[in-house]
Amino acid sequence: MSTAPAPAPALEALGLAKHYPIRQGWHRPPRTVRALDDVSFVLPPGRTLAVVGESGCGKTTLARQLTLIERPSAGTLRIGGASPGDDEASLRRLRRRIQMVFQNPFASLNPRKTVSAILEEPLTIAGELDAAARGERVLELLGRVGLSAEQARRYPHMFSGGQRQRIAIARAMALEPAVIVADEPVSALDVSIQAQVLNLFMDLQERHGTAYVFVSHDLAVVEHMAHEVLVMYLGRTVELAPAAALFAAPAHPYTRALLATRPRLDARVRRTVVPIRGEPPSPLDPPAGCAFHPRCPEAVPRCRDERPALRALGDRRVACHLA
Ligand code: SF4
Repeated sequence: MSTAPAPAPALEALGLAKHYPIRQGWHRPPRTVRALDDVSFVLPPGRTLAVVGESGCGKTTLARQLTLIERPSAGTLRIGGASPGDDEASLRRLRRRIQMVFQNPFASLNPRKTVSAILEEPLTIAGELDAAARGERVLELLGRVGLSAEQARRYPHMFSGGQRQRIAIARAMALEPAVIVADEPVSALDVSIQAQVLNLFMDLQERHGTAYVFVSHDLAVVEHMAHEVLVMYLGRTVELAPAAALFAAPAHPYTRALLATRPRLDARVRRTVVPIRGEPPSPLDPPAGCAFHPRCPEAVPRCRDERPALRALGDRRVACHLA
């Protein structure tokens, strides 16, 4: 009996890095900020990878590499099995396979265009449908995100924040991408609306098999949405684990500290958690050894000198000497 080959991962990152040179005046040599270093993961179709960490940890830099807004300094990226080449035509081809939903639906939609024009724009650029087919597709996209045909002629300012984010999701879905990268997609919305938009994301994933990379600082959102979680600290992966396992038993001290910052009702858990202390160090001057050691409540002398490798531990990977 022949078995069908497994589908290609929706997204694969292998050793992705992004380094920025920083000039410090004419007489001093430029320095390098390692905003992203050696980040790897595999995201299958129809699954959600959440990327978490404090601000400045490299989440947004990673999102910019994944969506081909920037090119990485090193590493390999594959979208639906294909790697972007250096020519503009190949980048354009792959960009339609990976779309982005931004944090602020008030800024991400052109206020001078109707919803219909906003949704039609990527279809026109792709150049595959005639005007009548594009019109039908716009109505179908509106229906997907729970908006009506009458709303197609309205302008973004005539919608609430939640409705605008629905329009942004419809636009991201217009070209049937393999992956949507959503950068804090509900943090600008009222709490009462957040659940509706998250449920829409999940519903669309179930129906269309789209994979998501969810960049978020909100661990309640991550727990609700993610199949797998990538925890970043100072541009590097410190833990990559299935979401249920990570929330049940975080293996890295930084993950434990992050989880400790979310409100818990369980008094037993509250007594045992360790709150995160201090500020993240500057990426221009990262600490030697484990970058987390100045803030780590479990640090041992070895942590000051030796950077821990990212090691496999069962179904997760952890970068900690003590894990
Ligand atoms: Fe803490 Fe050391 Fe583990 Fe780093 S390697 S997280 S400093 S225990």
